[in-house]
Amino acid sequence: MNYDFSEKELAFFIDIQNIMQKLSEEKNLEAGGPEENIRAVIDRLAKTPYLNLAIQEEKEYNGLLTLMGAMEVVGAFSPSVLLSVEMSTRVFGKIVAELCDDRLKGNLLTPLLEGKILGAVAVSEDSMNVENEPLKTEGRADRDKVIVNGAKQYVVNAPLADWIAVAGMMDGKPVVFMVEKGTKGLVVEEKMSMVGYDGAAVSGIRLEGCSIDAANVIGPFDKVDILSKIKMWENQVLLGASLGLMKSAYEAARDYAKSHKSGGKPVIAYQEVGFKLAEMLTLFQTSQLFAYRAAWNAADNPKDADSFTLSSKVFLTESAEQVASSALQILAGSGYQTGNAAERAFRCSKYLQIAGTSTEISRVKIGDAAMGIR
Ligand SMILES: Cc1cc2nc3c(=O)[nH]c(=O)nc-3n(C[C@H](O)[C@H](O)[C@H](O)COP(=O)(O)OP(=O)(O)OC[C@H]3O[C@@H](n4cnc5c(N)ncnc54)[C@H](O)[C@@H]3O)c2cc1C
Repeated sequence: MNYDFSEKELAFFIDIQNIMQKLSEEKNLEAGGPEENIRAVIDRLAKTPYLNLAIQEEKEYNGLLTLMGAMEVVGAFSPSVLLSVEMSTRVFGKIVAELCDDRLKGNLLTPLLEGKILGAVAVSEDSMNVENEPLKTEGRADRDKVIVNGAKQYVVNAPLADWIAVAGMMDGKPVVFMVEKGTKGLVVEEKMSMVGYDGAAVSGIRLEGCSIDAANVIGPFDKVDILSKIKMWENQVLLGASLGLMKSAYEAARDYAKSHKSGGKPVIAYQEVGFKLAEMLTLFQTSQLFAYRAAWNAADNPKDADSFTLSSKVFLTESAEQVASSALQILAGSGYQTGNAAERAFRCSKYLQIAGTSTEISRVKIGDAAMGIR
């Protein structure tokens, strides 16, 4: 267990930092035109090992551990970009790389890694759809086609995606339908307006007699807890997203506390403000260690990986909300105006506790694991 990043990894983080710095000077990554923003970022990141790291092994880098550090950098610049890019690469990309057959993988993996196509993943329907809860989205065989019917409430990237991996059922068993943009019967609803993640494109989708090639159905998965696997990849993204939010909120508060004067002195001189910053930094640094350990477990200790990722997710996502809230308190009136890192982190942090495996369900599962039930 060594969580030190190598010189090569540190140089890669600086590279990513420079790319994101330049892009955020050129575009408002957190607002408006997600189509243009996301594609521009993916195009730039594709020229680095970033996209590849999310999906498969990359020589000289430490897989998910390196990705965790890189997600922190991207997420600190733009939570929306991180979410959109990773739902396409870490989640959709993993489905392609690990679950698709050679034909689909051959068609999709290279364009995905080159940043030429964008993916989305649609699992949840009208509730959390806890693992093993049968999904209502259903496919019916029709000669060499499969006709899919169902609806998904919230799908990151749906309005932009070239392909959507839709989890559903066929003959009573879980499958994933790979649906290409423009397929007849795929209805992508209006982009939703949300509390946070303004620069991401999220919408519902409906499959109304949507006809896809039978060869584009992955599965059926016999006894494989496929939803758990997909949620695990998503939870890993949410760890990186939490780190990014904490980094940006902490740094905004620290810089403001040093430069802004109240009552004749910089606010950092007030012990209560200093203590707040100390608590924020402690939560952030503890979260980094937790996330790195979760990444290490995923690669080297798969037996404990699921439960450890869920414990990390509960801790990181709640810490992100707390750090963001403290940052906003320190920025006070300036923070309460929109358009700063503290208020953005505050708005985005709640999503992290809802998405993937929610905080409530995570706690249930951590408890089950502790009792040896799973
Ligand atoms: C902005 C946004 C983007 C999203 N993007 C995607 C996406 O790209 N792909 C995708 O598949 N999904 C996505 N989702 C869905 C998300 O991951 C959640 O699954 C979904 O929002 C939860 O459904 P719900 O709101 O109906 O909650 P409900 O299921 O109604 O839950 C309500 C409350 O009950 C709790 N609860 C429910 N079941 C249990 C249980 N068994 N034990 C304990 N507590 C429980 C929940 O934790 C929650 O607090 C997105 C959601 C949002 C808000």
